[in-house]
This record gives sequence, C-alpha cells and structure tokens, in this order.
Amino acid sequence: MIDSYRHKGMRRKLAVTIKNKGIKDQRVLAAIEKIPRHFFLDSSFTEIAYQDKPFPIGSGQTISQPYTVAFQTELLQVEKDEKILEVGTGSGYQACVLLEMGARVYSIERHRTLYKKASQLLSEMGYLPKLFYGDGYKGLPTFAPFDKILVTAGAPEIPEELLKQLKTGGLMVIPLGGSGNQLMTTIRKLSDTDFEKKEHGYFRFVPLLGKKA
Ligand code: SAM
Repeated sequence: MIDSYRHKGMRRKLAVTIKNKGIKDQRVLAAIEKIPRHFFLDSSFTEIAYQDKPFPIGSGQTISQPYTVAFQTELLQVEKDEKILEVGTGSGYQACVLLEMGARVYSIERHRTLYKKASQLLSEMGYLPKLFYGDGYKGLPTFAPFDKILVTAGAPEIPEELLKQLKTGGLMVIPLGGSGNQLMTTIRKLSDTDFEKKEHGYFRFVPLLGKKA
C-alpha cells in the first residue's frame, strides 16, 4: 500500500471541499486529511478515491461519501477517550476517523467478509478499534453503556436496544427512514425515559439490515 505525495495532495483538496460544504470541526477535517481513503478501496478506485462520493466495497455495501462521514462525526461531538459504538463497520474508514479524534471505538458489522477485511486492513494500518461480527440492531450489551452511538446505515426506526446501551447524557447519531432518503437525527438521552430528538436534513444510506449475513 503506497501513500504518495499525490494521494496526500488529493486528500488536502478533499478536506478543503468538505470544509467549503460547511464542516467546521477542525479535528474532523484533520482526520479526513490524514487517513489514506484509497487503502479502503479496491485498487481500481485509487485514482478517484478522493472524490467526495460513496464507492462500493463489496457485499453490496458502500464506503460513505466523505462529506457524510464528516457530517455525522461533527454531529457526534467526539471527545477524547469517549467510548463510541459504531453500527456498520463497512470498510473501517469511519472507525479510523473516530480513532484519530481520540475515541475508544467499538464497531459492529453484519457481513462477515467485510468484518474480516476491515479487521485485517485496520491492524495493518496500526488502528486498533474493537471490531465485532454481529447484528448491530442488538448493539454490544456486554460493553455497554456507550458515551456515543453512531449508526452508519439507514434505520427504519430507532433500535430500542441501542437506546438502552446509551449512557444517560449520551448522544446517538442515526439516519432514520426506510429505503430512499433518511433524515439525519440526533438523540440525546436525558434519562431512561426522556430523549431529546433533533433533525439535520436528508441523506441517502444503504439500509440497516436484520440478522447476520
Ligand atoms: N461506516 C462504513 C465505512 O466507514 O466504510 C460505511 C458503512 S455502510 C454505508 C453501512 C454498513 O452497515 C454496511 O457495511 C452494512 O453491511 C452494515 N450493516 C447493515 N445492517 C447492519 C446491522 N444490522 N448490523 C451491523 N452492520 C450492519
């Protein structure tokens, strides 16, 4: 895997593009500028890996558009050492963005092939999140509670289990809706029974699916 000056240059431009689209958190922009996105894609995508677009990663799934990654990460208001659960590891790129911001990352993926691929790549790159193969609808009860939860696939409804596994005071970022567009939503857990919900515009995600594949 080669990360050339050319790749670095393309990354710098990508970070500027994302900044111009409204992302303000410098730590998010720094992570985008640092992480070699072309490592997460098939070599046939190397030339276009720094376009602000989603790309296929196999198993019918995608690596999200960098702007969407940045938008969700900014909404998550990541603080150093926070324990964050990501649902939908996919390529592992988003997990690396969270790690670059100092979070402790737990990420779950329902496709075994993607789980294995991300596990190998991230360890080769020196990133050490805790990765799991399983159904993100169920979260990770053994490791709960989490300070933050980030769902990176479109969910028809808020998974009850994930709300339970969020700390009081914690925040969830989740794209809500069926196939088509989803409404980016943040949910602050005020108590076991009180939640504050905010909406942040429409995005397009692959769907959150039940059961392991
Ligand atoms: N965060 C990923 C990245 O950085 O590459 C991109 C995520 S992709 C848009 C959505 C991912 O969610 C896919 O890899 C998909 O297999 C996974 N997924 C869908 N339903 C799931 C579920 N119930 N549990 C865990 N992962 C799921």
